[in-house]
Amino acid sequence: MRYLVFSDIHGNLEALAAVLHLAEKKRIDHYVCLGDLVGYGASPNEVIRVIRRLKPLSIIRGNHDKAVFGRESIESFNPIAAAAIRWTRKTVTKASHDFLHTLPRGPLTVEDRFTICHGSPFDEDFYIFGEYDADEAFGYLHTPVGFFGHTHFPFLYVQREGCLVGTHMDGGEVKLEEGSAYLINPGSVGQPRDRNSKASCLIYDTEHKTVRFHRLDYEIASAQRRIRAAELPPALAERLAVGL
Ligand code: ZN
Repeated sequence: MRYLVFSDIHGNLEALAAVLHLAEKKRIDHYVCLGDLVGYGASPNEVIRVIRRLKPLSIIRGNHDKAVFGRESIESFNPIAAAAIRWTRKTVTKASHDFLHTLPRGPLTVEDRFTICHGSPFDEDFYIFGEYDADEAFGYLHTPVGFFGHTHFPFLYVQREGCLVGTHMDGGEVKLEEGSAYLINPGSVGQPRDRNSKASCLIYDTEHKTVRFHRLDYEIASAQRRIRAAELPPALAERLAVGL
């Protein structure tokens, strides 16, 4: 089975299109989305419409999805993120709103094979930043492989015989070994923050036991134009060009 694992699309339709183009080329069997479909970007309804059509699809909600349907106050969001949530709340259609509302909270086990969560397996809103956090997260992981998002950094943590190592993955392929446990972040489709502006995702091949990280060019200028036209904070357009 070949799974496309992707996260943090944030209303960026152009970046999502690049990722789905890759999925088509690579003959993906199953789509796995780790949440944050909306927030920041100017195309929340379009992104939701495209993602709902993917089949088969395993999906969980992110903190921005939750904030849009009103389950979360936006006090914890920075001013720009909060402004984007207010804009998104006004912009989503009833169908989009209802879809976000039905998204399950992680963690979720996919086909008895691996675990997915937005932030961490013990708290959907927790950021796994560094080995100390990853160590705690491994304690809650009940499958050898888990995928998480939320930080917008493509990253791979491996735990083997009590030793834990984390690596920033800027592309490349990793062979998964028996006896090791993995927590893996595909990076962000719609708002990468590792100073690489390309859309990020990965393909997990369970037959060959590999994870391949991809970075994809997309029409950044078009996504930026939509953000400006929507009168979202201009910083949200500017950051896309620098991957921050
Ligand atoms: Zn996010």
